[in-house]
Amino acid sequence: MRILVVEDEIHLAEALSHILKKNNYSVDVANDGEAGLDNVLSGIYDVIVLDIMLPKMDGITVIKQIRREGFDTPVILLTAKSEISDKILGLDSGADDYLAKPFNTEELLARIRALGRRRGEITANTNTLSCGDISLNTSALKLSSGAHEISLTLKECELLEYLILHKEMVCSKEQIIEKLWGFDSDAEANHVEVYVSFLRKKLAFVNSKVAINTVRGVGYSLT
Ligand code: CA
Repeated sequence: MRILVVEDEIHLAEALSHILKKNNYSVDVANDGEAGLDNVLSGIYDVIVLDIMLPKMDGITVIKQIRREGFDTPVILLTAKSEISDKILGLDSGADDYLAKPFNTEELLARIRALGRRRGEITANTNTLSCGDISLNTSALKLSSGAHEISLTLKECELLEYLILHKEMVCSKEQIIEKLWGFDSDAEANHVEVYVSFLRKKLAFVNSKVAINTVRGVGYSLT
């Protein structure tokens, strides 16, 4: 899962990023509302942790924009105790959850797990995703269908997880690159093509009917 933290208190942002990475999430940080919104609109995040009081654009405006653009990415709002009415405003604007500062990091992690599960039909504690006739174990890096099973590399697993979580959408190569290799990487479109071809072979190996379709000039979709 890839998480975006939008928080202008640098120390808090760094601490959150550190804790989330330690718990095996991929994390990006934005320090103001405009930068946060730009990041969200890339479509690569599974959960957004969003402060309310932010420079350039406040968190409530960010959520409204995200929802207006049609993104249903789960959002956890961070709110100071004095902003308790903002909390209600935030949930009205389309936030999924909120935490009052100062908060316990275990509680934040629990909320993130809950939202991730809701989004991806991830079975509690097993880290298994299902789609059609396949199931993907993202901890053991195993793809299975019926009685057939095959091991995946980490990147293959991340790619298939991303496609499953976004199966209603066409995923662009740019989104996939950002998701798998991060914003600053020099990975190119042909990296994605190579991993898609590996995954297609492995889907065929386990005899699955699930297919990765090429949408010419746009990207890939799973059916
Ligand atoms: Ca703030």
